[in-house]
Amino acid sequence: MHIVVTGGTGMVGRNIKDVVLEHKDENNYHFLSSSDIDLTNRDAVLKFFNDKNYDYIIHLAANVGGLYKNISQNIEMFSSNIKINENVLEACHLNGIKRGIFCLSSCIYPANPSKFPMDETMIHESPPHPSNEGYAYSKRMLEVQCRHYNTSYGYNYYCVIPVNLYGKYDYFNLKNGHFIPMIMHRFYLSRKYDVFTAYGSGKPLRQFLYAKDFATIILGILLEYKDLPAEPIICCNDEEFTIKEVVYKLLDIMDLSKEKLSWLTNYSDGCMKKTVSNKKLMYICPGLKYDFTDMDSGLKETYDWFKQNYNNIRK
Ligand code: NDP
Repeated sequence: MHIVVTGGTGMVGRNIKDVVLEHKDENNYHFLSSSDIDLTNRDAVLKFFNDKNYDYIIHLAANVGGLYKNISQNIEMFSSNIKINENVLEACHLNGIKRGIFCLSSCIYPANPSKFPMDETMIHESPPHPSNEGYAYSKRMLEVQCRHYNTSYGYNYYCVIPVNLYGKYDYFNLKNGHFIPMIMHRFYLSRKYDVFTAYGSGKPLRQFLYAKDFATIILGILLEYKDLPAEPIICCNDEEFTIKEVVYKLLDIMDLSKEKLSWLTNYSDGCMKKTVSNKKLMYICPGLKYDFTDMDSGLKETYDWFKQNYNNIRK
């Protein structure tokens, strides 16, 4: 079995590689990066897929980033993700790839939903938060595309919907990164001055999933749950924290003082709450409930890895 993984050099792709290696999976995986193929280039994508014999796809590649990148690059994120997804799906269709995982995000959900927790039926219920409108609509279109390939051609394209992901191999950029890698890196650099800053009010609620747990879920859905209806699946555990709680956890893990922390409240909070439900995931894969990495362990593993690999991390 040949399985192509787009975005194979990103955080989730690298975690999938780790899980595959641990399980001595006998399938052949092909982990792609943007230097193998620029997925925004339609001609190049169709040519690239044409002479391969991939059976399944895990499509992770995306123009992705944290709140402040989303706010400043809405049009770029919309445009590149629409192109990437359209090209990848066309290549799959033309080359007989009928089963795959396609990655959405809980950030694409309505900013003002009719209820909490939100479930898989509510993706298109009303507009997303304006801070990430470009990214959100490009990912919402991916759900529409997959659904129509499934109904029109009988494919099994699963849209997985993770909450905020964090872990080894994350992108620790100080400006465009997601909340956890960005603030971990900032705290790390400011430890010698013993003064720490966090952005916003600290009040928004967020759910987090350790990237390795997500990698395990993806491989399970693709390879083990063969009879699963090809519908979207939210991927999260039962934990939810305020940003402030996560910042305090990080300060503890990094052995830094809370007294030296100040909040820059002129920075945007983004969406205050976007709680989603894992009911469907738990129903499909009940065993997973006991395997989730709790936030304290996940943060500690991430920080240990970050310190050990500081010179080689993506930043
Ligand atoms: P990363 O930013 O870590 O990695 C992105 C990957 O996409 C890299 O391998 C990158 O290649 C590749 N890529 C980007 N643009 C192109 C392109 N034009 N052509 C080919 N490859 C490209 O992403 P994550 O691993 O964090 O995210 C994986 C998926 O999960 C994404 O679809 C994302 O939207 C989704 N997601 C992520 C969340 C998170 O918190 N990180 C939360 C919810 C959903 P290269 O290394 O060569 O640049």
